[in-house]
Amino acid sequence: MSVSVRDLSNCERAVALYASDMPTSYRQKGRDYSRLCAWIVQGAARLGMGELYRSAAYAYGYRLLWLARLTTPSQRQAHALRFPDGGRFDKAERLASLVTCFADLGMSEAAIKRGDRPAVEGDCRCYGSGWIRDRDDADDPTTEYAMNCPGHNPNASGSAYAAKSVIA
Ligand SMILES: [Zn+2]
Repeated sequence: MSVSVRDLSNCERAVALYASDMPTSYRQKGRDYSRLCAWIVQGAARLGMGELYRSAAYAYGYRLLWLARLTTPSQRQAHALRFPDGGRFDKAERLASLVTCFADLGMSEAAIKRGDRPAVEGDCRCYGSGWIRDRDDADDPTTEYAMNCPGHNPNASGSAYAAKSVIA
Protein backbone atom coordinates (compact mmCIF):
# COMPACT_ATOMS: atom_id res chain seq x y z
CA MET A 1 0.00 0.00 0.00
CA SER A 2 1.29 3.42 -0.85
CA VAL A 3 -0.25 6.68 0.32
CA SER A 4 0.95 10.21 -0.21
CA VAL A 5 0.71 12.88 2.47
CA ARG A 6 -1.24 14.98 0.00
CA ASP A 7 -4.06 12.41 0.14
CA LEU A 8 -4.47 12.77 3.91
CA SER A 9 -6.38 15.36 5.92
CA ASN A 10 -4.66 17.33 8.65
CA CYS A 11 -6.12 15.14 11.37
CA GLU A 12 -5.20 11.96 9.47
CA ARG A 13 -1.62 13.26 9.29
CA ALA A 14 -1.66 13.76 13.07
CA VAL A 15 -3.03 10.28 13.78
CA ALA A 16 -0.47 8.76 11.39
CA LEU A 17 2.36 10.61 13.15
CA TYR A 18 1.08 9.34 16.49
CA ALA A 19 1.21 5.76 15.18
CA SER A 20 4.63 6.13 13.56
CA ASP A 21 8.17 5.67 14.87
CA MET A 22 8.51 9.44 15.34
CA PRO A 23 10.16 10.08 18.71
CA THR A 24 7.80 12.07 20.95
CA SER A 25 10.73 14.37 21.71
CA TYR A 26 11.16 15.20 18.00
CA ARG A 27 11.49 18.89 17.22
CA GLN A 28 11.13 20.27 13.74
CA LYS A 29 13.99 22.53 12.73
CA GLY A 30 13.94 24.47 9.52
CA ARG A 31 11.74 23.99 6.50
CA ASP A 32 12.61 20.47 5.46
CA TYR A 33 9.55 18.37 6.32
CA SER A 34 10.70 15.17 4.62
CA ARG A 35 11.25 13.27 7.89
CA LEU A 36 7.76 14.17 9.14
CA CYS A 37 6.26 13.16 5.80
CA ALA A 38 8.08 9.81 5.93
CA TRP A 39 6.67 9.18 9.42
CA ILE A 40 3.18 10.13 8.25
CA VAL A 41 3.40 7.57 5.44
CA GLN A 42 4.80 4.98 7.87
CA GLY A 43 2.01 5.56 10.42
CA ALA A 44 -0.68 5.42 7.74
CA ALA A 45 0.68 2.10 6.45
CA ARG A 46 0.86 0.75 9.99
CA LEU A 47 -2.78 1.59 10.79
CA GLY A 48 -4.32 0.86 7.39
CA MET A 49 -6.51 3.43 5.69
CA GLY A 50 -9.80 2.32 7.26
CA GLU A 51 -8.52 2.63 10.81
CA LEU A 52 -6.67 5.84 9.98
CA TYR A 53 -9.80 7.50 8.57
CA ARG A 54 -11.92 6.31 11.49
CA SER A 55 -9.45 7.33 14.19
CA ALA A 56 -8.92 10.74 12.60
CA ALA A 57 -12.67 11.41 12.40
CA TYR A 58 -13.02 10.51 16.10
CA ALA A 59 -10.02 12.65 17.01
CA TYR A 60 -11.47 15.60 15.10
CA GLY A 61 -14.91 15.20 16.68
CA TYR A 62 -13.31 15.00 20.11
CA ARG A 63 -11.24 18.13 19.44
CA LEU A 64 -14.37 20.07 18.40
CA LEU A 65 -16.26 19.00 21.52
CA TRP A 66 -13.22 19.73 23.68
CA LEU A 67 -12.84 23.22 22.24
CA ALA A 68 -16.50 23.88 23.13
CA ARG A 69 -15.98 22.37 26.63
CA LEU A 70 -18.71 19.83 25.92
CA THR A 71 -16.92 16.49 26.27
CA THR A 72 -18.54 13.83 28.43
CA PRO A 73 -16.70 11.36 30.70
CA SER A 74 -17.32 8.53 28.23
CA GLN A 75 -15.95 10.60 25.34
CA ARG A 76 -12.86 11.49 27.38
CA GLN A 77 -12.40 7.82 28.22
CA ALA A 78 -12.76 6.73 24.58
CA HIS A 79 -10.25 9.37 23.47
CA ALA A 80 -7.77 8.34 26.19
CA LEU A 81 -8.09 4.69 25.15
CA ARG A 82 -7.52 5.56 21.50
CA PHE A 83 -4.62 7.93 22.23
CA PRO A 84 -3.20 6.87 25.61
CA ASP A 85 -0.22 9.23 25.39
CA GLY A 86 -1.85 12.66 25.46
CA GLY A 87 1.48 14.49 25.21
CA ARG A 88 2.41 12.52 22.11
CA PHE A 89 -0.96 13.18 20.51
CA ASP A 90 -0.60 16.89 21.23
CA LYS A 91 2.84 16.85 19.61
CA ALA A 92 1.51 14.90 16.61
CA GLU A 93 -1.31 17.44 16.12
CA ARG A 94 1.12 20.37 16.23
CA LEU A 95 3.58 18.77 13.80
CA ALA A 96 0.82 17.71 11.41
CA SER A 97 -0.40 21.31 11.34
CA LEU A 98 3.14 22.47 10.55
CA VAL A 99 3.23 20.09 7.58
CA THR A 100 -0.23 21.17 6.44
CA CYS A 101 0.53 24.89 6.72
CA PHE A 102 4.13 25.07 5.56
CA ALA A 103 5.22 21.98 3.63
CA ASP A 104 3.47 23.22 0.50
CA LEU A 105 2.16 19.78 -0.46
CA GLY A 106 -1.46 20.76 -0.94
CA MET A 107 -4.34 18.45 -0.06
CA SER A 108 -6.50 16.34 -2.34
CA GLU A 109 -10.20 17.13 -2.64
CA ALA A 110 -11.12 13.78 -1.08
CA ALA A 111 -8.88 14.46 1.91
CA ILE A 112 -10.36 17.93 2.39
CA LYS A 113 -13.85 16.43 2.35
CA ARG A 114 -12.97 13.67 4.82
CA GLY A 115 -11.25 16.24 7.03
CA ASP A 116 -14.51 18.09 7.40
CA ARG A 117 -16.44 15.09 8.73
CA PRO A 118 -16.06 14.60 12.49
CA ALA A 119 -17.30 11.48 14.26
CA VAL A 120 -18.08 10.96 17.92
CA GLU A 121 -17.04 8.08 20.15
CA GLY A 122 -18.80 7.79 23.49
CA ASP A 123 -22.04 9.12 24.97
CA CYS A 124 -22.81 12.59 23.70
CA ARG A 125 -24.69 15.45 25.32
CA CYS A 126 -26.86 15.56 22.18
CA TYR A 127 -27.72 11.83 22.35
CA GLY A 128 -26.75 11.66 18.69
CA SER A 129 -29.54 14.06 17.67
CA GLY A 130 -27.13 16.85 16.69
CA TRP A 131 -28.72 19.29 19.16
CA ILE A 132 -27.84 19.87 22.78
CA ARG A 133 -30.77 21.07 24.81
CA ASP A 134 -30.55 23.14 27.94
CA ARG A 135 -33.46 23.33 30.33
CA ASP A 136 -31.62 25.10 33.12
CA ASP A 137 -33.41 28.43 32.97
CA ALA A 138 -34.76 28.64 36.52
CA ASP A 139 -36.77 31.77 35.77
CA ASP A 140 -38.78 30.17 33.03
CA PRO A 141 -38.98 26.37 33.12
CA THR A 142 -41.01 26.31 29.92
CA THR A 143 -38.14 27.78 27.91
CA GLU A 144 -35.71 25.45 26.20
CA TYR A 145 -32.50 26.39 24.48
CA ALA A 146 -30.73 24.25 21.94
CA MET A 147 -27.27 24.52 20.45
CA ASN A 148 -25.84 22.41 17.67
CA CYS A 149 -23.51 19.63 18.80
CA PRO A 150 -20.00 20.44 17.52
CA GLY A 151 -19.30 16.71 17.05
CA HIS A 152 -22.53 15.43 15.52
CA ASN A 153 -23.74 18.59 13.81
CA PRO A 154 -20.85 21.04 13.36
CA ASN A 155 -22.67 23.02 10.67
CA ALA A 156 -25.92 23.33 12.62
CA SER A 157 -27.95 21.77 9.85
CA GLY A 158 -31.58 20.85 10.37
CA SER A 159 -33.86 22.09 13.10
CA ALA A 160 -33.56 21.73 16.85
CA TYR A 161 -37.31 21.22 16.98
CA ALA A 162 -37.14 18.18 14.76
CA ALA A 163 -34.76 16.67 17.28
CA LYS A 164 -37.12 17.22 20.19
CA SER A 165 -39.07 14.01 19.71
CA VAL A 166 -35.82 12.02 19.62
CA ILE A 167 -34.93 13.11 23.14
CA ALA A 168 -38.35 13.20 24.78
ZN1 LIG B 1 -23.36 15.08 19.80
